[in-house]
Amino acid sequence: MLEFDLKIRSRDIGTLVNSIQANDSEADVETVKRAYYFAEEVHKKDFRLSGEPYIIHPLEVALILSSLKMDIQTITAALLHDVVEDTEVNLDTISEKFSKEIADLVDGVTKISSIKNRSKTVAQAETLRKMLLATIKDVRVIIIKLADKLHNMRTIMFQSPEKQLAIAKETLDIYAPIAKRLGISAIAAELEDLSFVVIHRDEYNSIQKKLQQKQNEIQIYIETVKEILQNKLSELNISAEITGRAKHYFSIFRKMKQQNKDFDEIFDIRAIRVIADEIKDCYGILGVIHTLWTPIDSRFKDYIAVPKSNMYQSLHTTVIGPGGFPLEVQIRTEEMHATAEIGIASHWLYKESNKRKKRDHKNHPLIKDINRLQADISSPMDFLTGIKMDLYEDEIFVFTPRGKIMKLAAGATPVDFAYAIHTEVGHHTVGAKINNRIMPLKTKLNSGDIVEILTSKKGHPSESWLKFVVSSNARYKIRSYLRKQKKTEFSAQVTDKTAPPPVKRPPKEAPSIEVTIPQNETEKLDKLKENNVQSLSIEGESNLLIKLSQCCQPIPGDDVIGFITRGRGITVHKKTCPSLQRLSAEKERFINIVWKESSNTYPVKIAVHATDRPGLLKDITDEISQADTNIIKAEANVKDKSNADFKFTIEVKSNDHLNKIITKLKKIKNITDVSKLNEKVMLNR
Ligand code: MN
Repeated sequence: MLEFDLKIRSRDIGTLVNSIQANDSEADVETVKRAYYFAEEVHKKDFRLSGEPYIIHPLEVALILSSLKMDIQTITAALLHDVVEDTEVNLDTISEKFSKEIADLVDGVTKISSIKNRSKTVAQAETLRKMLLATIKDVRVIIIKLADKLHNMRTIMFQSPEKQLAIAKETLDIYAPIAKRLGISAIAAELEDLSFVVIHRDEYNSIQKKLQQKQNEIQIYIETVKEILQNKLSELNISAEITGRAKHYFSIFRKMKQQNKDFDEIFDIRAIRVIADEIKDCYGILGVIHTLWTPIDSRFKDYIAVPKSNMYQSLHTTVIGPGGFPLEVQIRTEEMHATAEIGIASHWLYKESNKRKKRDHKNHPLIKDINRLQADISSPMDFLTGIKMDLYEDEIFVFTPRGKIMKLAAGATPVDFAYAIHTEVGHHTVGAKINNRIMPLKTKLNSGDIVEILTSKKGHPSESWLKFVVSSNARYKIRSYLRKQKKTEFSAQVTDKTAPPPVKRPPKEAPSIEVTIPQNETEKLDKLKENNVQSLSIEGESNLLIKLSQCCQPIPGDDVIGFITRGRGITVHKKTCPSLQRLSAEKERFINIVWKESSNTYPVKIAVHATDRPGLLKDITDEISQADTNIIKAEANVKDKSNADFKFTIEVKSNDHLNKIITKLKKIKNITDVSKLNEKVMLNR
């Protein structure tokens, strides 16, 4: 308790300002000071359970965020994070006094904490859902929330014992896994240790005691190792920083439990970390270490080539170190180290170093998962189950027949694997070979398995797959396929009864196109056949799946070019398609493609702008149906008399066909413009 008192009491706004300025000497500390004094004033009647003035809490949260080198907006919002919930001040005031951005951050944090008086599990699920949804909008909200949780856990001893237990369990269940998944391992580790003390106090004390007894001995050992390695590296002119590494208590405990081992048997108590200048040095250093000491084969992991799903990168090896002790080594670059320690928060570091590329955190795997899940799942409990699966399951690594590594959740089946490759592969899976033997689709895969998916155009997802798939991705894709299937059957029944007009049902599969591949390209394709798509067997003569790209939606008559994708056949783009620029780095994968005569039709979307008048819509639809085409879908948006926008999805045979329709439509009275839209045409796929 004494230690705690000293730590808190000695810190004030000056501490925060110093910490911010150490990161960025030009930071706008005036705003931070203003927020601090404002929060101090409005919280002046509030006290923490510790008896201290309330302002200590937001200050500590801000300090945690400053140590993560977060930006000024985040730190300011942290100072204000409890103002709206606990005082009379509202968001408008914060917006006026500070900024909309800061008010939005405060709002996000407030919303997460505002769920109370519900049954525990539902409330927990709801908290988690809100928190994750906030993450999509602005991930800084969740980083503030995690810092908030961390300070509350640091001061948990002021709560009643029952509350301590409940809070610690929730932290271990929800907050620590999210921090881990976002890669903020510094916070994740501390949250786990703080919960661990509360939940398993005896085990914690015992590990702590054992660690303390060993500390001296280990320190001397690590110094020896550092010296040997440093000398060898200098000889070879490789510069690197070598540090000892403290393991956190909970991870030792977890390993003892998982591997059913005693404290003394746990490997990685003697551990060092090497920070290299460049990636190539990492592998060089690994080589040096493996010549100095014998590696334990089974313990080598290359997370640089295959990053973990929270973007963690590093080389891990365990060697028999001096004196015969196992020595665990992590090797990585400075940038990888930042990602390892603070994960997604490292995205705000680029101000400091121009070298660091700006990465879009919308592409972070967790954020993608959340986006996907929330689009499909409405109940908080389903959401919780879905996301928990992604947060908690361990991972396995399996291979495609071409040797590509795929990362899957433990317990994954060939169906999970198929969906991880591509939705279309998943949808058309009919069988699987595991290590060259045909196996049932529900077989659980093991790390190292080589998996080959057998597909057929006639294959389609089955309800029974839901019983064994483990990835939320596969589950979501199967469910939405089945749901759409039901809808189509239903609407087909309805149209049958209400008779006219008999709208042709849109095709179930992507329209397959007839193309001729010019002679000089066949050699390229033969090669492709040899080493491509062995993981997919595709029906038909060409052996290659040809698909029209969704981005520019070419139709016969358009000037097109094919692009050989990795394992997904050929996609056909218009020569004017902007996405070709992105692909142009790999020129050798382009092939020429020409249209063949065919009677196929293609769905396209057109936009019609007009000034509204009675009977206009009827005139348009009449004109379209006279042009020998089907309307698959029509949308109208009449804002006022002078502004009517329509969107039609129609089936056309070719570019010429489409142009004829457009010309005809343009002649209709009151129509001001008609154009083709390059929007996704979603059929019932
Ligand atoms: Mn708080």
